Amino acid sequence: MLLQEGVEAEKKAISLLSKLRNELQTDKPIVPLVEDCADTDLWNQHLEYQRGLLNESDGQPSWFRSPWLFVECYMYRRLHEAIIQSPPINGFDVFKESKDQNFFESQESVMALCTHLQELIRTIEDLDENQLKNEFFKLLQISLWGNKCDLSLSGGGSSSQKTNIMNSLEDLKQFILVNDMEHLWSLLSKCKKARENMSVDRVYIVLDNSGFELVTDLVLADFLLSSKLATEIHFHGKMIPWFVSDTTIHDLNWVIKQMKFCNHKWMSKCGANWENYIKVGRWVYHDHIFWTLPHEYSAMPLVAPDLYAELQKACLILFKGDLNYRKLTGDRKWDFTVPFHQALCGFHPAPLCSIRTLKAEIQVGLQPGQGEQLTALDPHWLTSGKYGVFQFDGPL
Ligand SMILES: [Mg+2]
Repeated sequence: MLLQEGVEAEKKAISLLSKLRNELQTDKPIVPLVEDCADTDLWNQHLEYQRGLLNESDGQPSWFRSPWLFVECYMYRRLHEAIIQSPPINGFDVFKESKDQNFFESQESVMALCTHLQELIRTIEDLDENQLKNEFFKLLQISLWGNKCDLSLSGGGSSSQKTNIMNSLEDLKQFILVNDMEHLWSLLSKCKKARENMSVDRVYIVLDNSGFELVTDLVLADFLLSSKLATEIHFHGKMIPWFVSDTTIHDLNWVIKQMKFCNHKWMSKCGANWENYIKVGRWVYHDHIFWTLPHEYSAMPLVAPDLYAELQKACLILFKGDLNYRKLTGDRKWDFTVPFHQALCGFHPAPLCSIRTLKAEIQVGLQPGQGEQLTALDPHWLTSGKYGVFQFDGPL
């Protein structure tokens, strides 16, 4: 690319971005997307749907008056539009640098985790059921607390894991508000016992953030194969840069490559193993435009029937993070005690579990009085990322 060409493209992107900021800050109407992409029509149809929800006196859907889930997703989609309208930098990921930085800042934790995993794999055949279950629970909790590392919550500021998370698990247990880990264990160990030769048990992981959280998810995925609790892991990521730190295929490949070529023995071993899992198809990566649409998941059978049919092949789906939770529950103002199953509004492709630290003002499935108690104890419990859930839905 010629230097001048690049400078002109940057200028164009910056001017589109400042136009976007102005629209946002001054509560302008939400305008249709213009650049022709695979998801453009779906976005514009959804904007029409939002318009239809308003009375005539309400005017147009606008930044301050439309539902937060819709507007927040729309903002990230418009950021993407500003970049794709500015060739030759149209493949640029504006969040790449901060995602990479999060990974590098968490190096020590990553090393500790990889060392733990490799030691565990070495002795895994000797573990009894109880020990195996304990290890499963440990790695689930690491994946939960890994979800604290979210750059959209810190406004892009540092949000890495600088201390060894494994030493904190006992202290953090008190912050798990719903704990359905036992259900996950009984489901997967049942699958394992019932499995016949050559049959396949898939666990799907709908990813959230890259960097440290992604490593915790990959460690869990490795354990699920090594322990034979599953035979295939399918990851679902984002097709475009999303909510600052969300994982794309480029992030996944980058993280695995960084690990493979790093000079720490066990990290490098993990990187090499994971690359091989992908090569032989025991790990499969999927992306789909639905994950970066504003729709709640109960709309999936209608909007993305192919994706819904794909998810139905899972014996368990793990949904990581807050945005997945908001979309699972339609981002509505549910009472805290409404059952999770009910809040899913008919979205039941397979047994599923949300693994999420709380960053948005929505939580269901609590005990009577639990939400009120938490509010009295800590007014920011819903949004600080300090609390977490393992919330399961499915037949037991
Ligand atoms: Mg995220």
